[in-house]
Amino acid sequence: MELVCPICNSLSSYIVQCPFCNSEMEAQAAIQDYFDDYSTYLDKGITEMMDNVSEDKCLHIFSCPQCHKDRRVSINKILM
Ligand SMILES: [Zn+2]
Ligand SMILES: [Zn+2]
Repeated sequence: MELVCPICNSLSSYIVQCPFCNSEMEAQAAIQDYFDDYSTYLDKGITEMMDNVSEDKCLHIFSCPQCHKDRRVSINKILM
């Protein structure tokens, strides 16, 4: 058994509603994936936020296809 993120592993989709226009937001890559690729571009705030994410959570960016806002949501990992 191992803790895995259902979104990173395409196990389930996660519905998040846009707080601005109530559309369904689309899950983007986990923040740690951005972190690997773009770590030099990340500001200190995000780095600090990464440190605050616990082992059993995976932080994802959800973006709204309608108004293009995004929001970070921590996803509870599940035991597989
Ligand atoms: Zn994930
Ligand atoms: Zn929206």
